Amino acid sequence: TAYEVSCRAVDLESGPGVLLTFQDVTHLEQAGQMRRDFVANVSHELRTPLTALLGFIETLKGPARDDAAARDRFLGIMEAEAGRMERLVGDLLSLSRVEAEERVRPTDMVDFGALLRSVLNGLSPLAQEAGVTLALDLPEVSPEIPGDPDQLRQVIVNLVENGVKYSGTGSEVRLAVSQPAYQPRLRGEGVELTVTDSGPGIDPIHIPRLTERFYRVDNHRSREMGGTGLGLAIVKHIVNRHRGRLRIESAPGQGTTFRVVLPSRV
Ligand code: ADP
Repeated sequence: TAYEVSCRAVDLESGPGVLLTFQDVTHLEQAGQMRRDFVANVSHELRTPLTALLGFIETLKGPARDDAAARDRFLGIMEAEAGRMERLVGDLLSLSRVEAEERVRPTDMVDFGALLRSVLNGLSPLAQEAGVTLALDLPEVSPEIPGDPDQLRQVIVNLVENGVKYSGTGSEVRLAVSQPAYQPRLRGEGVELTVTDSGPGIDPIHIPRLTERFYRVDNHRSREMGGTGLGLAIVKHIVNRHRGRLRIESAPGQGTTFRVVLPSRV
């Protein structure tokens, strides 16, 4: 607990006195600490690819100058590192936009089935390349929900991309839309989207922290896969803005299900 203490002279009946005020500023301290951690994390995440880029530029200027094969290889690595920085900056901008809008109610009506079909179409080359099958179960009548179409698209993209990334060749990512079971405090009935993969699963101890910025179960694997560590944090903020719920169900070796419930009134 953190206190801010102030002190003031007062006149008491029995003579001069001092008034001490203790103000609990724990939440301010915590918010400040979180901001500092975030800045430190961002700096570290940007510095890693930047250091690699500078190293390769030095090598290309010197020892590898006349070695065509080495040059091509290094340029390939540099392209990948620059791509990583570009993705990170893109995700940071998305996150800050979503945060800024978190209290603004989305007003558009979104045809959820059409949105899902369009997202899956866009992601099918990526899935094909990874050897992953995408499947979609939709109810006969596509539900309409209030929402920000670009943000809802981003939720679906992030969840499906993760499924594809972490599950690997021969697996399946299945999306299903249904009516949610009754949920207290949910406004209107809305829709439930599940994104289920047949991948490696996640140890339950990690699940509560997965939506934290830069939290990764396996740092090395996430980076190798080109992950920024921000995808689920963005999903969480968007679901919050839509007054929905996000649940993650998983166990090692059992695949993973992301369950998003979005209300029909926001
Ligand atoms: P990243 O860019 O690292 O994928 P995310 O915020 O999207 O960041 O996800 C956070 C972490 O959650 C990932 O690093 C990974 O460890 C884990 N994760 C996310 N989705 C899955 C999944 N479908 N299967 C297994 N692990 C997952």
